[in-house]
Amino acid sequence: MSEVQHHFIRQQIDQDLASGKHQQIRTRFPPEPNGSLHLGHAKSIVLNFGIGQDYAGRTNLRFDDTNPAREDAAYVAAIQQDIRWLGYTWHEQHFASDYFAALYDYAVQLIQRGKAYVCDLNAEQVRAHRGSLTEPGTDSPYRNRSIADNLALFARMRAGEYADGSRTLRAKIDMAAPNINLRDPTLYRIRHGLVHHQTGEAWCIYPLYDYTHPISDALEGITHSLCTLEFADHRPLYDWILHNLDFDPRPQQIEFARLNLSYTVLSKRRLTRLVAEGHVTGWDDPRLPTLAGLRRRGYPSSAIREFCHRIGVTRADSLVEMAMLESAVRDELDQTAPRRMAVLNPLKVVITNYPADQTGTLTAPNHPKRDDLGARTLTFSREIYIDQADFRETANKKYKRLVLGGEVRLRHAYVIRADQIIRDDTGQIIELQGTCDPATLGKNPAGRKVRGVIQWVSAATAVQAEVRLYDRLFQVPEPGKKQDLITDLNPDSLQTRPDAVLEASLAQAEVTIPYQFEREGYFCRDITDTANGKPVYNRIVSLRDTWQNG
Ligand code: ATP
Ligand code: MG
Repeated sequence: MSEVQHHFIRQQIDQDLASGKHQQIRTRFPPEPNGSLHLGHAKSIVLNFGIGQDYAGRTNLRFDDTNPAREDAAYVAAIQQDIRWLGYTWHEQHFASDYFAALYDYAVQLIQRGKAYVCDLNAEQVRAHRGSLTEPGTDSPYRNRSIADNLALFARMRAGEYADGSRTLRAKIDMAAPNINLRDPTLYRIRHGLVHHQTGEAWCIYPLYDYTHPISDALEGITHSLCTLEFADHRPLYDWILHNLDFDPRPQQIEFARLNLSYTVLSKRRLTRLVAEGHVTGWDDPRLPTLAGLRRRGYPSSAIREFCHRIGVTRADSLVEMAMLESAVRDELDQTAPRRMAVLNPLKVVITNYPADQTGTLTAPNHPKRDDLGARTLTFSREIYIDQADFRETANKKYKRLVLGGEVRLRHAYVIRADQIIRDDTGQIIELQGTCDPATLGKNPAGRKVRGVIQWVSAATAVQAEVRLYDRLFQVPEPGKKQDLITDLNPDSLQTRPDAVLEASLAQAEVTIPYQFEREGYFCRDITDTANGKPVYNRIVSLRDTWQNG
């Protein structure tokens, strides 16, 4: 495992502990329950929970649920499951909606201090008054209402007397501020007719994220509120709210670069579209970069944590290569995955000199470098399967597999020779007849050089399975950049091998164990699907990076 980078956020924390600013570090992970978590969230989870662990601090899970129109309780449960799966436990769980009553009281305080006002402009008018990057905004005609009027109007907003969009509560900051976020930002808006997954119909006004977040952080005693770079421009507002409500000590917002990964998308909005339009089978489609999808595909959560450590935490946005994720999982699985034999496109081979009533028992180590992983038993029989790709009628010397009249070693078993091809009426090869050399078990035949080794499965004990091979979901590094996202989808992101056969030991395979199918890649049994009663195996990753030069 790579060492955890001592990045700028950890350096800041060291300073804050050394100076006595904080005795204990508290962080939080604040997902909005409007979709499944993806690898970008994993970066934030590993960052926040990692700091909590390493500094003997505490990390809360807080559902940022101020926008009930897009949220769902089902996502709450899914997010909890994903965080646990990644290996973390939260100290406290909160919903931003737990603070709705407190947030309302703080808003009243802001009004009492002359720091907030009820504005009757509609959304379009607010926008028109806002100005631009080069021009200051203009004051709302409602900006100088009396405190008493504002208190009364805000109470009536809450009581449900006004229609959606007819009024807002705004902070009274500075319509000429160079930072547009400080031009009297909206704190509350009216939303009738929504049923919030936590608070039901108790509220018809909802606080905005920029108002809710700093107060929620402060109420939980968060010391370092870590968020992605696009919130840097919101930090002055974060600080303004806490300052004007006299919070002390105040949490410190620190921004870091969001994770962008090539050949995929890390945005709930775009992932939601892929799911909603049916381009994938669901949030847990194994091709998605969601934690549910990666889990189903067979990614160990430790490989995802390792990936997050490798990419580190910086202040500059960048595009991380998908190859980095794949090498993190390969490096781990190479060490841990038991080896198995699977034939994805079977070609039957009849070993004519092997008796039909005989079953040979062979032992094969589970891992070439790790005796501690033990061994499994293979059976050998007169009929076996090899992969169609491992036989050619004729081939040049570069082809180190089986050709007619040539020899190849069956992994962990004998050297066989291909003697004869059996075809069906259409000329398709349906069977191969060959012979095995009984003297070659575990040793090379005297005087002959056998160059290739291929995997095989005994027909007598084969486990039938469907194997799914996944490729990148998109065919370009930055999907949606030059054209619509959907146009960039890779049409070959899923290939199915419906007639695969697996060695018998996989009949008892546990669903959560990734295996290396020799010469084919790393595979894991699907958590949810079967195909016509057969187990489904997902390819987690190929053995090599096949995209490097292409
Ligand atoms: P999306 O853009 O996918 O909708 P989001 O920021 O709206 O993401 P939230 O549920 O609000 O999603 O995010 C929860 C936390 O995860 C936030 O602190 C956010 O900064 C962080 N996060 C989200 N996406 C990424 C990413 N790609 N890289 C790093 N952190 C991320
Ligand atoms: Mg968000």
